Amino acid sequence: MTIKTRFAPSPTGYLHVGGARTALFSWLHAKKNNGTFVLRIEDTDIERSTQESVNAILEGMQWLGLDYDEGPYYQTQRFDRYQEIIQQLLDQGDAYYCYCTKDELEVLREQQMANKEKPRYNGKCREITDSQEGMNRVIRFRNPIEGEVVFDDLVKGRIVVANKELDDLIIARTDGTPTYNLTVVIDDMDMGITHIIRGDDHVNNTPRQINILKALGADLPYYAHLPMILGDDGARLSKRHGAVGVMQYREEGYMPEALLNYLVRLGWSYGDQEIFTQEEMIELFDISKVNVSASAFNTDKLLWINHQYIMNSDPELVVKHLEWHMLQRGIDATTQGPDLVDIVKAQRERSKTMVEMADASIYFYQDFTEYDAKAAKKNFKQGTDDVLQTLLDAFTALTDWQGETLHKLVLQIAEQLELKLGKVAQPLRVAVCGTGMSPSIDVTLSLLGRDKTLARLQQAIDYIKENKS
Ligand code: GLU
Repeated sequence: MTIKTRFAPSPTGYLHVGGARTALFSWLHAKKNNGTFVLRIEDTDIERSTQESVNAILEGMQWLGLDYDEGPYYQTQRFDRYQEIIQQLLDQGDAYYCYCTKDELEVLREQQMANKEKPRYNGKCREITDSQEGMNRVIRFRNPIEGEVVFDDLVKGRIVVANKELDDLIIARTDGTPTYNLTVVIDDMDMGITHIIRGDDHVNNTPRQINILKALGADLPYYAHLPMILGDDGARLSKRHGAVGVMQYREEGYMPEALLNYLVRLGWSYGDQEIFTQEEMIELFDISKVNVSASAFNTDKLLWINHQYIMNSDPELVVKHLEWHMLQRGIDATTQGPDLVDIVKAQRERSKTMVEMADASIYFYQDFTEYDAKAAKKNFKQGTDDVLQTLLDAFTALTDWQGETLHKLVLQIAEQLELKLGKVAQPLRVAVCGTGMSPSIDVTLSLLGRDKTLARLQQAIDYIKENKS
């Protein structure tokens, strides 16, 4: 049997971390089994579905590298097929028209609530055989009354629901459009989905969907319902926890590889291993080992993993992300300034996010006229201009612009001026970077290059002369 999984988002918002984890688990399960991963956009709710959300989902999947083998399929392009199945169910007697009005159903609901019963349709129209056209009518699935639905959820274990707990679900609205529980069943059947991996907010739909599948004579898929993701305060994950669309994580400087690594561990573990290469994830992931209980989203942990990825990934990969962040800052680092690979190597230890790395690398590419106020106050004193002038003279005379030579020269000048190294290196750093923080001074100067270093030293000397005399 070829394993086939699917991710079936409704395009009513961005791709959030919960959805991304569902997509990841479905993707991993397919990849692990040399199967097929399908993307299906469930856009039948015309009022709430938007093209923007579709784009956001596609963009999120692409950024995360969750490539699909089939799709995207759009449910709105499959209405004919849904109508065909609705007709089939009617013809078979597995569906019927229901003429109950909204008011009638409301009264029924109120009565049931008053009697402390679970609100459910009472089957009033179940036996009406003559079709009354022209009336407002929905179509309901004729759920079996006897027996029970049993399925072995790969995460939750055996689930048993008595049919008498399930009422006759509406499969087509008064305007004839099909409802979620029907379209999802038809698609899963037609697309040959073998494993349905989805959030456990759908677990109550599953027995109904199984009954429809049975009525259609379809093979039943396996189900795996994933427990919710909670915020670190135990409440359901929401915007309040900073849990927004996955693209927001890009904005905030997370690497997609790190976010995926974090998400795979949300509800699944392999011993106490925290970092997984993509190959390891695929090899080791086991849907039946997913935790039954909800997992809590922990931003500190995500940040830690992100830093691990920034430090330990192939620098070329980090460059790809840094390039994007530099462009966000109006800097095309591919056409000017130091090679980004060298920037990554110089900055990765100190950068927990790509935002930190990009922000701390702007001065390598862009000149500035203002200094970080604190750093300037602390390091630019009366007389610092003389120290910088000595450095400028020495650097101007230097022909070999290499880290080691530069390092030696700065040491030598500190000795010559009878100053501690920090009293020379720190003003030099502020002069050339505009701030008090940068990689080691030799690395900083060699990345910056001779011309920028000399020009910025001159600029700082002028600045100090003007402000401190
Ligand atoms: N479209 C549904 C949702 O976004 C998912 C349906 C499913 O996975 O079966 O919640």
